[in-house]
Amino acid sequence: MLDHAASVRPQPMIDPFGRGIDYLRVSVTDRCDFRCVYCMAENMTFLPKKDLLTLEELDRLCSAFIDKGVRKLRLTGGEPLVRKDVMTLFRSLSRHLDAGALDELTVTTNGSQLAKYASELAALGVRRINVSLDTLNPALFRTITRWGDLGDVLGGIDAALAAGIHVKINTVALKGVNEAEIEELIAWAHGKGMDISFIEVMPLGDIEPSRLDQYLPLSVVRARLMDRWTLTESDHRTGGPARYVTVNETGGRIGFITPMTHNFCESCNRVRITCTGTLFMCLGQEDAADLRAPLRASEANDLLYAAIDRAIARKPKGHDFVIDRRTKRPSVTRHMSMTGG
Ligand code: SAM
Ligand code: SF4
Repeated sequence: MLDHAASVRPQPMIDPFGRGIDYLRVSVTDRCDFRCVYCMAENMTFLPKKDLLTLEELDRLCSAFIDKGVRKLRLTGGEPLVRKDVMTLFRSLSRHLDAGALDELTVTTNGSQLAKYASELAALGVRRINVSLDTLNPALFRTITRWGDLGDVLGGIDAALAAGIHVKINTVALKGVNEAEIEELIAWAHGKGMDISFIEVMPLGDIEPSRLDQYLPLSVVRARLMDRWTLTESDHRTGGPARYVTVNETGGRIGFITPMTHNFCESCNRVRITCTGTLFMCLGQEDAADLRAPLRASEANDLLYAAIDRAIARKPKGHDFVIDRRTKRPSVTRHMSMTGG
């Protein structure tokens, strides 16, 4: 591999609000083998493959962020495990774990390809993964994902657990869809030793169903859960926005990711890059910086570091998501699959 050592010393990333940036999420592809109703339209147009950064370029970009203080790296998408040869990227990035430069290399996946990759991911040092799963009902699973097969995902989860990977389930709370199944999902996840986080649907990208029809505030879910279980506040943190409670009866944890009812921006420690090398400083804002041009302009990283510094200096204080009857358009026009969840 080329040595891309730069002549300037990379500086840590501190934004204008004093927040240190040590978490990078990378969308390695905008493509996916599912078409979840809250995430994508059925007929999505994807980027031409030629616009994507190569796996080598993605490695170099991630490594530059690690030089600038990133300690936690999550590969996401689209569906990261459908990108051709994606394991090459995991293999090369795992050197940063071996060197102690990175605390955690992880992935958010729909689980469809996990049975194939779980043991290699574990061998490369991936210790925790997030698997998205909104229902245990095969027919409803097909309805929500449009194209997915529940059996494949459950097989993938079992393969990951068997490989010794900690699996956290991510579930989007959908009004009138999986609303009645939430307790069953918790009991199932905790029965397998997995934590589970619920996510409020966010207004990202144009899709056919209305967000108002899908949006279920987690404050409502939480109040209902308290009728059945004893929830104790937990100070468990994974570096992400979830706030956890422990269920006394099961011993498992439930995370609540509440961008709508509780804005989690004040402790934001992360930025995101897309598969074309665009840096988004906030999931909920349109402002972005192109890193592909500085990446390709020279083999040294000076231009890249400078472009990152300029972008971090513009990181906004927070997002302005709104879902209401007057706001017919999504707050942010790009889909979640572009920047990664
Ligand atoms: N394909 C992978 C998966 O589904 O886990 C990774 C990418 S996906 C965009 C990441 C997460 O974003 C998933 O847990 C998904 O449920 C969530 N997600 C997608 N669109 C969303 C939206 N509009 N609001 C809230 N969560 C969303
Ligand atoms: Fe694909 Fe994940 Fe979006 Fe579902 S949520 S369509 S699995 S990218």
